[in-house]
Amino acid sequence: MDHSLFLEGLNFSIAVWAAQMIAYHGFGLWFEWLDQTGSGLPYKVRPAERLSYRELLPRVLSNQLLVLLPAMILAQALGLAYSGSSQITAAGVVLSCAGLTIGHDVFQYIAHRLVLHDPVNMRKLGHAVHHSTRAGRGVSACYMSAADFFLEIVCPYLAPLILIGGGGKNFIFHALIVSAGAFGGVYEHSGYDFGVTLRQEGGWRRILGAMLSTEAHGNHHTRGNVSFSDGFGSSNICDTLFKTRWDLAAGRQSRQETTTDA
Ligand SMILES: [Zn+2]
Ligand SMILES: [Zn+2]
Repeated sequence: MDHSLFLEGLNFSIAVWAAQMIAYHGFGLWFEWLDQTGSGLPYKVRPAERLSYRELLPRVLSNQLLVLLPAMILAQALGLAYSGSSQITAAGVVLSCAGLTIGHDVFQYIAHRLVLHDPVNMRKLGHAVHHSTRAGRGVSACYMSAADFFLEIVCPYLAPLILIGGGGKNFIFHALIVSAGAFGGVYEHSGYDFGVTLRQEGGWRRILGAMLSTEAHGNHHTRGNVSFSDGFGSSNICDTLFKTRWDLAAGRQSRQETTTDA
């Protein structure tokens, strides 16, 4: 094998990883700036994290560098993703995004609810580390054990990508996908909710407010047993289907209380 060609080829997955790092840490720093300056105070709905940005960062970087990067390089080396044509049609973008969103929801739900929240695995696989945070600082989105990060972040991204055929080799497409994912994760862990005032109004503002909500993952951190893949930008299919969505679970709980009271 021509090693220069081999490495040149693998540069693609490294470039997509780099795009994700720029997005994740760019958004992470922006939310940290909001925290430090108090500029976003009207939208800060959860208290700032006990651990500082600097204390959270090393674990986040080690996950991204030692788990995500090798997984992405391996996916490309095995020809499972980031290969093929650099051309992508509008229909291809729509279908791929639909497949990735639904796939992400299903894989994350299975990994998060059935594997990581299993009482034995909670300590064994270290999901408790992530639950030591309260979704109150953007950069904490990837503050978790390596096994947790692999199951909850890497697999729900790479498995659907592989299933839809690897997503081709269009850099802009891949960069936008990973940047959108990075923003979603950082935003829902930031403690901010830009939809909080809009939801008090009517019409389209209320709908937009609901779309911008970070209540789902905030509730996952405070209650623990709701919204396993429901969150900002999620299709919410599994949590809706299995009635573990934070707002549905609250309704079910209060109905049970009413029945018990009666
Ligand atoms: Zn979280
Ligand atoms: Zn959890």
